[in-house]
Amino acid sequence: MNRIVFDPGHGGIDPGAVGKLNGVEICEKDLALAIALEAADWLAAKPDYHVEVTRDCDIAKGELSLEDRVTFSDRHKADLFVSIHCNAIAPPVAQGFEVFHYKWSGEGWTAANAVFRAIAKGIPEIAPRSVKPAGFYVLRCTAAPAILVECGFMTDPNDLKLMADKAFQKRYGAAIAQGVINYFA
Ligand SMILES: [Zn+2]
Repeated sequence: MNRIVFDPGHGGIDPGAVGKLNGVEICEKDLALAIALEAADWLAAKPDYHVEVTRDCDIAKGELSLEDRVTFSDRHKADLFVSIHCNAIAPPVAQGFEVFHYKWSGEGWTAANAVFRAIAKGIPEIAPRSVKPAGFYVLRCTAAPAILVECGFMTDPNDLKLMADKAFQKRYGAAIAQGVINYFA
């Protein structure tokens, strides 16, 4: 049984990045939650996968700190920790998805590459950027190999429009989950 923890970024009083689509504010916390829950549902339906999420609504119990996310992953003895985020940059010139890991080797790096390839295949509408190391707390401190997916840029109108679409979120979640399966295969 492979134990996967999905971690939708931000939540509650922390909206993450905020974008605008047709005048309506869109929060990273909501996109990350929607995509992560689709990934979790898709993977949980497969045999041999036990899936947990660090939050399944706008806010879990109280605020969910980075430390809480790591503790959750460790407590559930995760084999892989997958944090889901959406990117933002000013001025709005960047687009595409990227996958982060902690070190240039090891399981996190292997998992990041597997998920990157699966997204590139399943989600051709969003440009593939890169797999790269980063010292983010949740990558550094989890006992499990950990990756962080930046699904697209909320500052890019095309990426944002796609990520805000329910059917697209479902496909995106499935692509991430397929990448997890490919990693464990
Ligand atoms: Zn974020």
